[in-house]
Amino acid sequence: MSFSDLETFLDNLGESKFRAKQIWRSVYHEGKESFFDMTNISNNLRSSLSEKISIDLLRTKIFLSSKDLSTDKALFELEDGELIETVLMRYKEDGHRNSRKTVCISTQAGCALGCTFCATGQQGFRRNLTFGEIVKQVLYMRKLALSEDMDEIAKNLRSKGEIQGVTNIVFMGMGEPLANYDNTISAIKILNDPLGLNIGARHITVSTVGLVPQILKLSEEKLQINLAVSLHAADNETRSATMPVNKRYPIEDLINVCKKYVYKTGRRIFFEYVLLSEHNDSEEHAYKLGKLLYGIKCHVNLIPVNPTTQGIYNRTKSTTVLNFQEQLKRFNIPSTLRIEKGIDINAGCGQLRSRIEL
Ligand code: SF4
Repeated sequence: MSFSDLETFLDNLGESKFRAKQIWRSVYHEGKESFFDMTNISNNLRSSLSEKISIDLLRTKIFLSSKDLSTDKALFELEDGELIETVLMRYKEDGHRNSRKTVCISTQAGCALGCTFCATGQQGFRRNLTFGEIVKQVLYMRKLALSEDMDEIAKNLRSKGEIQGVTNIVFMGMGEPLANYDNTISAIKILNDPLGLNIGARHITVSTVGLVPQILKLSEEKLQINLAVSLHAADNETRSATMPVNKRYPIEDLINVCKKYVYKTGRRIFFEYVLLSEHNDSEEHAYKLGKLLYGIKCHVNLIPVNPTTQGIYNRTKSTTVLNFQEQLKRFNIPSTLRIEKGIDINAGCGQLRSRIEL
């Protein structure tokens, strides 16, 4: 529930609206997972809430940690048996950026968009997640992150005031966030709300395959979040071969709306580009990409393809990646090669679920 829905709900129960603040605080600040742990509300209200609503939305089906302990991945079962994945990634300070803990969350069970390089895309669409199910993934991983902070404080590896918890959220797990638009926006508002999880909007990134009308709508939301657009090719033929959505929203329309987004929000756009060996990674592809994005306030993230169970693409060689980046530099387009995390635990989107279902 949103905060105002919770107030109305309590009002209908004959309770003071003031209780909403206490319950909200117990869930989002104190991480309470059961109404019976909320000692600041009456026994009657605790029983009545637990009969009518639930805050225990996820069952952990599988939980894996990578060998280097930088990445945890959970496969959760929802109340109706659907399966979703969530990942926690730990990054050390690297001279450019401070240490951070990023949670990658799912917005749908499965996905209807069918990108050929993606394990989720190979599983089909099941349903949209509620914003409660989206936010709960962050709460789950935040509990882990906070307990690590406390352990480090106990060992004098971290000073007392240095509790970090989760610092960044990326909507890059299973599903297309903008195809579940309302729940995605509601989840962002709770994550960002100082009374909610209080995560800065600039630390929240929403990824999309390029749903043009929704990008336009998002540009009007007045949110300071980051937008990451999965481009993966600079011409329609190459893009349509891996991303069926390109037939509905071809590159020209997508780039047009991206320019409008930058104009309206003043924010730069992140373009995601999965490198697929001998498909979209040649110098010519890089040149086309540079030409396409020239003049747009943007950053390109190059991503080595995740080996999916039924995948048909190979990884790009590191020399090819360097050549690709060199071409982009000619157009003054900054790019980064994404740091890989959790390959040994199938941390790529949809890989854990496909492991259970195959
Ligand atoms: S990459 Fe994203 S949009 Fe494409 S199939 Fe996978 S989950 Fe869906």
